[in-house]
Amino acid sequence: MSETTTPLNDRFGGFVSARSRERLVEGLRQKGIDNERVLNALARVPRHDFVEEALKSRAYEDTALPIGYQQTISQPYVVALMTQLLLTGRDRLKRVLEIGTGSGFQTAVLAQVCARVFSIERIGALAERAHHRLEKLGIENVSLRHGDGTNGWSAKGPFDGIMLTAAPDRVPDSLFAQLAERGVLVAPEGSDRQQRLLYWIKKDGIALRHKSIDVVFVPLQAGQA
Ligand code: SAH
Repeated sequence: MSETTTPLNDRFGGFVSARSRERLVEGLRQKGIDNERVLNALARVPRHDFVEEALKSRAYEDTALPIGYQQTISQPYVVALMTQLLLTGRDRLKRVLEIGTGSGFQTAVLAQVCARVFSIERIGALAERAHHRLEKLGIENVSLRHGDGTNGWSAKGPFDGIMLTAAPDRVPDSLFAQLAERGVLVAPEGSDRQQRLLYWIKKDGIALRHKSIDVVFVPLQAGQA
């Protein structure tokens, strides 16, 4: 995909939402996001298309919002930070796996900085909605799957980036096995509703762990719904 700040197919209040996005991006910059590719991606993806009608006016606030089924669309700052961590040391990724599609917003952001995104969602209704949204926006480099992503998607790996947007107690070993050399895995880890954002970089076959900020994510749950 080209490196521009041109918005994706913007169906709703184009000019107003573009200005709201610019303000949001300025706020992200002030909070320390400094990867221009990531900031461009956040400037391009219309977040209001990923929330229900009643929440559209709040889509450019830097907060998580409900998306139904007791799930949430992540806070833009956390989306930007996780994307920035995933890109550590690299300009662009070839193959990325996301576990927890949810609204599809993070997926759409990843699709701006990766050649190919694979994303798994355990709740069928959310997977379907995300599919329609991405299609409407003309985002074509994403493959979605309805199912339990706990053990990744080995048939499509290895991945040079893996991102979990739901929190396991501990990241399963099977996911590290699907991470390519120099690949980065980003995940919130911990129990209940308070976790630490961690990232691992694989070097010589060993994934080295690094700590980032405290975060609040929904738990990674087994099985599909
Ligand atoms: N990135 C998403 C975050 C959604 S919340 C967004 O910004 O909208 C996390 C999502 O992970 C939820 O939709 C939840 O259903 C999903 N999830 C939880 N456990 C999962 C699992 N084992 N496999 C796939 N998806 C899972």
